[in-house]
Amino acid sequence: MALTWNDIKEQFITTAANDPKMAGIIEKMNAGSVTWDEANEYGIRAGQILSDIFKQKRPGLNISEWDIEDLIPKSLGMDHRMVSEVAQAAQTTMNAADGIGIKAQASKFDSDSAYGIVEELKANPDYTNIENTFYAQIINFSLSVVDETIQANAEFQSKSGIKCYVVRKPEWGACKWCQALAGSYDYEDVKDTGNDVWRRHENCRCTINYVHEGSSDLVNNYKKIGGTKTTSKRLTTTSTKTSGYNNMLSAVQNVWDELPDDFKNGTWSADELSEGELKAAYSYIQKTKAMRK
Ligand SMILES: [Zn+2]
Repeated sequence: MALTWNDIKEQFITTAANDPKMAGIIEKMNAGSVTWDEANEYGIRAGQILSDIFKQKRPGLNISEWDIEDLIPKSLGMDHRMVSEVAQAAQTTMNAADGIGIKAQASKFDSDSAYGIVEELKANPDYTNIENTFYAQIINFSLSVVDETIQANAEFQSKSGIKCYVVRKPEWGACKWCQALAGSYDYEDVKDTGNDVWRRHENCRCTINYVHEGSSDLVNNYKKIGGTKTTSKRLTTTSTKTSGYNNMLSAVQNVWDELPDDFKNGTWSADELSEGELKAAYSYIQKTKAMRK
């Protein structure tokens, strides 16, 4: 029997509700004191639970295209609702602390990413080649709900004349690409949704936070980031890429260290490859994976 949303709905909601870490964060949310770091944690945790359920049930096997289109968007839709509520609450906490009387904005459901995952499952009926990428994408999607909430609020407040900063902190042991991106950025300089500051490779657990000018968090964050006021100008704004491109990019980034130099073309991150070079590297990975099988 193919897996449908109804088969896992109950399990997802109940497991999330009984998760001690998530329950603790909900308690803080109800008390009006949830932070962005906690919203990040909540996003990772929710994505992990959904991803684990998929791992148990392996939905790619024996599933019709029709059922994929039911299962994935509805599962991610529920994840989005759960994480979005906590992320909005983090914004409300921040607004209250900074004396800003603007209502927190919600992020939109990222249907491009959701349907990117749907298309990938549909295009790989044997599932095995993309299985691990699929589980990782579910968690990335969930964490991105927080990033997108930050973006929606920074956009809204910036338009209202409030100065906003985006702070990207590397996770422990972050890759070179993420380390280079770490820093505080004037929102106006990175507001394009395709900007690298908003992007994540597979399994990236760096945090993207957001502060107002004059907040003590900003001072602390600047200190945390090596004591220098990192200028955002070093970033060039990239155009919004398709989800197909993003899937290739995360797959290549994931095996970057093992990739033969021929495919790196003298660059030190997958992100610097042209789309054609990226495609070549991607198809090489797919081929070698198939050989290893
Ligand atoms: Zn990262």
